[in-house]
Amino acid sequence: MAITGIKGFNDILPGEVEKWQYIEATARRVFELYGLSEIRIPILEKTELFCRSIGDATDIVEKEMYSFVDKGENKVTMRPEGTASVMRAYVEHKMHALDPVARLYYMGPMFRYERPQKGRYRQFHQIGAEITGVAAPSVDAQVLTMLTHFFNELGLTEPSLQINSLGCPCCRPLYRDALKKFLLDRIDSLCEDCKRRYESNPLRALDCKSAGCQEATQGAPSMLDYLCGECSAHFDQTRKYLELADTPYAINKRMVRGLDYYTRTTFEMVTTLLGAQSAVAAGGRYDGLIAEIGGPQIPGIGFAMGVERVALLLAEKEFSRRPDLFIAAMGEEAHAEAFRLMSALQRGGAAVEIDYEGKSLKSQMRRADKFNSRFTLIIGGDELSRGTAPLKNMDGGTQSEVPLDAESIRAGMNGK
Ligand code: ATP
Ligand code: MG
Repeated sequence: MAITGIKGFNDILPGEVEKWQYIEATARRVFELYGLSEIRIPILEKTELFCRSIGDATDIVEKEMYSFVDKGENKVTMRPEGTASVMRAYVEHKMHALDPVARLYYMGPMFRYERPQKGRYRQFHQIGAEITGVAAPSVDAQVLTMLTHFFNELGLTEPSLQINSLGCPCCRPLYRDALKKFLLDRIDSLCEDCKRRYESNPLRALDCKSAGCQEATQGAPSMLDYLCGECSAHFDQTRKYLELADTPYAINKRMVRGLDYYTRTTFEMVTTLLGAQSAVAAGGRYDGLIAEIGGPQIPGIGFAMGVERVALLLAEKEFSRRPDLFIAAMGEEAHAEAFRLMSALQRGGAAVEIDYEGKSLKSQMRRADKFNSRFTLIIGGDELSRGTAPLKNMDGGTQSEVPLDAESIRAGMNGK
């Protein structure tokens, strides 16, 4: 029996991969407008990094990590997200010594042991961005504006931006207590996980996808009503800057995130088109994270988007690549000439196809059709002896006779 891939681990085949390349290229182009540089981080990290940063009482650390002990008895984990690794690299290479402000983006696979379904996989891909060293709310607005810009650039009207604040270590404990008080009466409706985490991480219940928890948390108090003066001012200022940047948003009072390191501004780009997989991108401020993993007290903010979910939103768009020219040839000599011309034209930067096997003209024309090339050139014995051949524009149907050299063919395709 043929060996198959592993459940939840997907191949991205030609036809689909063009969409991915488009998403990645758009991200690079847009993020670089905002001064970000790419960072490439490893897939494997010490397990401890994720336990400490993401938090022990989170879904990711409790049940979703691909962790194992390697041959040297080291506890390692295939990264479930990128922020922890980027911050580990930032601290390890003392990037802050030169300038605490780092503006970074990354892209690549992440791994979580979840139940695979549409928009949820075990190996999935994120494009993420992080900005360290700025506590000012204008940078929160800048990050959100960049993310919105990216989705606009893809031509998507979904998803839309929702924001909230999770406060800081000064005000969140008050909110936690209020939420615990609220949940105490409803504790029987919570799912087993949320019951268990009632003491260690009651906020999880707000984010839980189980129907019981959704129901039980209706009307729960909002963090926004418990923000301390500074967090409240930060939230107001973030909104002011979002308005200055003309970035539309809505406030979602019950949004909490699945990772413990967030403080103050948190946000999601949400869609109604992907069922329970409604978050296409998500992130927030993490002013305590860098210190938590052993670095200096430096603030940060960032997000990650799920590339599979972005690709699903782009489902309608056509991405197949189109060669510039298909050269059909009749006879051995013409076939050799077609090969010579193809090679010269490709070196000059044109995308050219021929039929390598030199089949019948009819089957060659079928291939030309399949490639949907912009032009076709047909070479037979007559054309070889004349030294010219008909170059047909497949879109306009117009035809011109061009000399059989790469330069003339290129000029013909450029309409000269
Ligand atoms: P969800 O609530 O859907 O589980 P999450 O809160 O766990 O998402 P984050 O950890 O914030 O997600 O990751 C950021 C983004 O990565 C998500 O908004 C989503 O687009 C994508 N993502 C997360 N987990 C998966 C997965 N298992 N498969 C595909 N994409 C994912
Ligand atoms: Mg999740």
